[in-house]
Amino acid sequence: MREASKKILLRFKWLRSLRARLFVIIFLIGFIPSAIMRYATIASYEDRGIDVRRSDVQNQLKIIADHLIKYNYLLDSSSEIVNAELNQMANLYDGRILVINGALRVIKDTYNLIEGKSIVSEQVIRGLRGANLSNYDQANRYIEIVTPIIETVSALNASPEIPEGTEIIHGVILTSVSSDSINTTREILARKSAIVETILFFLLIAIAIIGANILVIPFDRVTRAISQVKEGLFDEPITVTDYTETEHILDAFNQLLKRMKVIDDSRNEFVSNVSHELKTPITSMKVLADSLITQNDVPVEIYHEFLVDIAAEIEREDKIINDLLTLVKMDKSAALLNIGIVDINALTEIVLKRLRPIARKKDIELVLESTREVIAVADEVKISLILTNLIENAIKYNKEQGTVTVTINADHQFFTIEVKDTGNGIPEDTVDRIFERFYRVDKSHSREIAGTGLGLAITKNAVMLHMGTINVASTLGEGTIFTVKIPLNYITK
Ligand code: ADP
Repeated sequence: MREASKKILLRFKWLRSLRARLFVIIFLIGFIPSAIMRYATIASYEDRGIDVRRSDVQNQLKIIADHLIKYNYLLDSSSEIVNAELNQMANLYDGRILVINGALRVIKDTYNLIEGKSIVSEQVIRGLRGANLSNYDQANRYIEIVTPIIETVSALNASPEIPEGTEIIHGVILTSVSSDSINTTREILARKSAIVETILFFLLIAIAIIGANILVIPFDRVTRAISQVKEGLFDEPITVTDYTETEHILDAFNQLLKRMKVIDDSRNEFVSNVSHELKTPITSMKVLADSLITQNDVPVEIYHEFLVDIAAEIEREDKIINDLLTLVKMDKSAALLNIGIVDINALTEIVLKRLRPIARKKDIELVLESTREVIAVADEVKISLILTNLIENAIKYNKEQGTVTVTINADHQFFTIEVKDTGNGIPEDTVDRIFERFYRVDKSHSREIAGTGLGLAITKNAVMLHMGTINVASTLGEGTIFTVKIPLNYITK
C-alpha cells in the first residue's frame, strides 16, 4: 500500500506539493457535492414530472370511463359528448386514446386508424381483469396507461344473479401520452445547471488557488525564517505560531540550532585553549632565552639552569602536542580499534610497574586488588591508556605517603577498574568539568603539578570507544575514586 502510494507520488511529482494537494482537496470538496446535487435534482425532476402526469391522466381517465358507461359508449360510440371529451383529452396531453371493449375490439381510436380492429396485448387483457396499469417508456418518451371501464351495479339494475355493488368490466381505455414537455423542461433545467456548474467550476478553481496559497503561507514563513538563520541574520530562536505543526518543526529546529551553537562554542573554546596552552611554554622559553641574550657575561651555571628550564618547557610542549594528537586520532579513528584478547590483571601490573618510580618519589604505595582473573576482548593500547592516566592522576594529586588502590573485578558481562586515591579530592562543583579538554581544577595550584588537562578527556574517549562508562566519586580531603565499567566483549555498533 505504502509502496503503491510512493510510486504514484514519484510519478506525479506535483502531488508532493502541499499546495497542490490542498488545491485538489478544496476543489473536490466544492465540486463533487455540487455535481451530485445537479444530477440528483434533474433525475428527481423527471421522476416527479412523470408521476404527476400519470396520476393526472389516470384521474381524468376514470371520469371518462364513468362517462363511457353512462352513455353506453361501448355499444354505441356515436355520443358526441364522449367523443369530444376523448378528443379533447388526447389533444391536451398530446396523446392517443383507444377505447377497447370486452371482446378486444377497438371501439374508438382518436387517431382514427384502427377502429373496428381487434387488439390483443397482455396489458389490455390484464386491464380487462381489472388492473390499472401504467408504463413509462423513457426511450420513446411516452407514458402508456391502461384504465379498466368498470360498471358498478346499482340498486336499480341489481338482480338475484348480479347483486348491487358488483363490478362489471366492460372494456379498457388504452392511452399513451407524450412526456415531451417534461423532457423539454428537464433539458432546459440541465442546460441551466450546466452553465451554473461551469461558472462554479471556475469559481472553485479560483477559491482553491487562493485557499491553498493562504494555507501554505505559514510554511513559507518557516522556510524564510530558516533561510535567515542560514544566512546568519539571527541567533535567536525562531517561531511561527500559525499552526501547531509549524511550531513543532521550529521547536525541533531551535533545539538543533542550540546544539549546533554549543558545538560551535566548544570548538571555539577548544581552539583558543589549544593556542593558549601551546603559547605558554613558548612564551616562557622566549623570556628565558631573551634574558640570557640581553645579559653579558652570564655565568655558565645560569646558562645551565636556564637551559634546564627551557628543556622542561620543550618537554611540556611536546606532551601537550602528543596528547592532542592522541585525542584527535581517537576522534578520527573511532572505528579503527585494534581489538584483541587482553589480560586485564597482567596489563594493570605492567602499568603499575611503569609508574612505581614516580610513586616512589612521593612515597606513595601502589596496591593492586584483583579478586579474579579478567580476560576481555578490547583494544589493549587504549585500556593501557585508561589505566595509565587514572593511576598517574591518583599519584599526582595524592598526598605524600598516600596510597593508590587499583581494584579489578568482573561479572559475566562487564569488567570494572576502580582507582582509589587518598588525595585532596575534587571540589563538587568542578567534578562535572574534569573530563573537558584542557580543564584543570585549580589552575594556579596545578601549575606545580605537571599536566595538560587532556588526560581525562583522552581517558573518557577511550572508555566511550569501548561502549563503557566512567564515574567519579570524590570527597574533599579524603580522596577520589574513579570507576570504569567496560563490556567484557567489545560490542560493535
Ligand atoms: P591533568 O592531570 O593533565 O591536569 P586531567 O585531564 O588528567 O589533566 O585531569 C583534569 C583535572 O582533574 C586535573 O587537573 C585535576 O585537577 C583533576 N583530577 C584528576 N584526577 C584527580 C584525582 N585523582 N584527584 C584529584 N583531582 C584530580
